[in-house]
Amino acid sequence: MDCIFCKIVSGEIPAQKVYETDNIIVIKDINPHAPVHDLIIPKKHILSLNELEEPEIAADILLTVKKVAIIEGITESGYRVIANTGNNGGQLIPHLHFHVLGGKKLGPKLVS
Ligand code: 5GP
Ligand code: ZN
Repeated sequence: MDCIFCKIVSGEIPAQKVYETDNIIVIKDINPHAPVHDLIIPKKHILSLNELEEPEIAADILLTVKKVAIIEGITESGYRVIANTGNNGGQLIPHLHFHVLGGKKLGPKLVS
């Protein structure tokens, strides 16, 4: 399948791995927008939140957020979690992923 994140999951494309479970991997974003910018990616090719059905994958993603925060040392300082969805949501890669951003004071704007 011609999907960047599937190729990262399979190891075909290298990535800096932060954390992994049976269901998900966490990698450093290649073009970080903050000192911490990680991506939580299900190993299964799920297009977006619109196609997410499996409760165990959904739970794994959500419970991974605080693990990423601990690993990156941003639990207390705080962080932001974003899942761009579809065209208007600004989703560029059609494989579900959650951005975890932190390490600096993020602006109050939710959209720009
Ligand atoms: P989206 O707009 O789809 O929510 O964001 C996709 C994100 O994936 C972007 O922040 C982009 O920098 C990141 N990205 C795109 N290609 C690669 C890649 O090959 N490796 C990594 N680590 N991140 C990528
Ligand atoms: Zn994929």
